[in-house]
Amino acid sequence: MSAQQAKQEPQPMKLEDILQSDVWNVDEEPHIVVDYTKCEKCPAKPCIYLCPAGCYTLAGDRIVFSYEGCVECGTCRVICPMDAITWNYPKSGHGIIFRFT
Ligand code: SF4
Ligand code: SF4
Repeated sequence: MSAQQAKQEPQPMKLEDILQSDVWNVDEEPHIVVDYTKCEKCPAKPCIYLCPAGCYTLAGDRIVFSYEGCVECGTCRVICPMDAITWNYPKSGHGIIFRFT
């Protein structure tokens, strides 16, 4: 492959760029409800490390959950070892709208 051909190869988009092309129509009601009493007893708190949108953070030793930037991947629902997640799909027209560029 020549240097000129290599230049013309489309480059894969970065995750940050892909997410920036999406749109959120945030509902006033959260589609995920977290039972924080269970979080207090959760030793590893894997949601902090595995949520790709960073919706779970720590404030001291307490979990803080923000649903607004959720990409609805379902990871937290699957990996939560304490069954602390109640999942309701966002109402029609709400949540993330993926744009495929
Ligand atoms: S993994 Fe589940 S129980 Fe553990 S901190 Fe996260 S939401 Fe709470
Ligand atoms: S569904 Fe995915 S993006 Fe949304 S809070 Fe759970 S892990 Fe994060």
